[in-house]
Amino acid sequence: MIRELHEKLKNGNVTALALAESYLARIAERDGDIGAYLTVLGDEARREAILVDEKISRGEAIGLLEGIPGAVKDNMCMRGTRTTAGSKILDNYTAPYDATVIDRLRKAGAVVLGKTNMDEFAMGSSTESSAYKLTKNPIDTDRVPGGSSGGSAAAIADNMAVFALGSDTGGSIRQPASFCGVVGLKPTYGRVSRYGLIAMASSLDQIGPLTTTVEDAAIVLSEIYGYDPMDVTTAESEGKRFEDFLTGDIRGLTIGIPKEYLSENLDERIRKVFSESVERFRALGAEIKEISLPHSKYALPVYYIIMPSEVSSNLARLDGIRYGMSANDQSERFAGSDTLLETYLDTRSYGFGDEVKRRIMLGTYTLSAGYYDAYYKKAQAVRALIRHDFADAFQEVDLIFSPTSPEGAFRFGAKSDDPISMYLSDIYTVTANLAGIPAISFPMGTMEEAGKALPLGGQLMGKWFDEETLLRAADAFEKAVVGDTE
Ligand code: GLN
Repeated sequence: MIRELHEKLKNGNVTALALAESYLARIAERDGDIGAYLTVLGDEARREAILVDEKISRGEAIGLLEGIPGAVKDNMCMRGTRTTAGSKILDNYTAPYDATVIDRLRKAGAVVLGKTNMDEFAMGSSTESSAYKLTKNPIDTDRVPGGSSGGSAAAIADNMAVFALGSDTGGSIRQPASFCGVVGLKPTYGRVSRYGLIAMASSLDQIGPLTTTVEDAAIVLSEIYGYDPMDVTTAESEGKRFEDFLTGDIRGLTIGIPKEYLSENLDERIRKVFSESVERFRALGAEIKEISLPHSKYALPVYYIIMPSEVSSNLARLDGIRYGMSANDQSERFAGSDTLLETYLDTRSYGFGDEVKRRIMLGTYTLSAGYYDAYYKKAQAVRALIRHDFADAFQEVDLIFSPTSPEGAFRFGAKSDDPISMYLSDIYTVTANLAGIPAISFPMGTMEEAGKALPLGGQLMGKWFDEETLLRAADAFEKAVVGDTE
């Protein structure tokens, strides 16, 4: 899609301003129903588009992302723009600086339409924990869009942006992509700078694109990845363009199917679509091999110890003193906030939602003296084993394939009172974050439920810093599906 729009812009068939206007009009028409955006940046988007048009009219060459309208999850700082991370505690927060990814988007000439809704501080799998509003799944508006990047996924699925950025700590790009029938890529840890991303769990967080096609995801990644002196975990830039690797040819690749991921409990409808997808890869010339990731069964408990530990430490900065909402500024509501301790308690009790509080408490517990060794340290040791499982598997295979999620989009409220069942939906996605490997979700089929065809995502996981092969295989799959339906 980006490439076609780029050609149109270049050839003068459409102006960047007209393109931005058409997306803003779509948002005005649809977003009242869907609720994908928290902030729409109409004037800014128009200004950015006009700059691109001026460049084109001067006869200058434009890059692939130049003039292309995109959306950004509301946990990425954008100078002068409200940045809430879906939380009441940042209701009044205007970011004083640009996240590195925003800086990169600006340099690439992309047009940012607005900031998208999300679970509070990216904690959740349904976007229902946003302090602001619900986002509906455009495929079936009685259902959640997934989360935590639900606003970004819904915006893509409902044609309210060409591309969107999301963040993924345990599946928050891939699972909403799966629920909304779009593509979502979590790059290798260290591929994309986290500077200016409001941290959830720093050893797991990674920013990546949500798009309608695999090629578009590759194009966006090419613009945002690379070394950043502001994030010490970023790897060096290799100057490559990921879209150049999409040959459509995957003959000779070996794809591993982890037997632990296909338990008897897996929904038969998902198993069927998954098996058909395996056959599709085989038909494309890949060799299919069963593999074992023996420590997968510990992935969820390990994730739900390490992640809250980091959450409790990262969110300590929201104390009502440094920035964001403060009980001190709301004297009618908090008449008694006189001491520093009361300010902390009032600000955090009021400003954070239940899920965030739950995780802060869990994390504070797992990090506390006496429990640290039993929980946090142990979880770190098991995390290393999970990582080794992948290193071993990648001696034998180039890629690993699984469903993205054990379910299709569920109804609003279905899991709201049951955190464990919400956590279980992350079962296939958290391992990639724990191991730091790249993973992509792409549409692999649908399942019938209550008269609706709900999208199902397939997940490919790749070797560290081998997004090329990951994208090449997902793109070949997508092209084969398109070939079949034409
Ligand atoms: N659903 C997972 C969680 O609630 C993943 C969140 C994420 O990736 N940001 O932790």
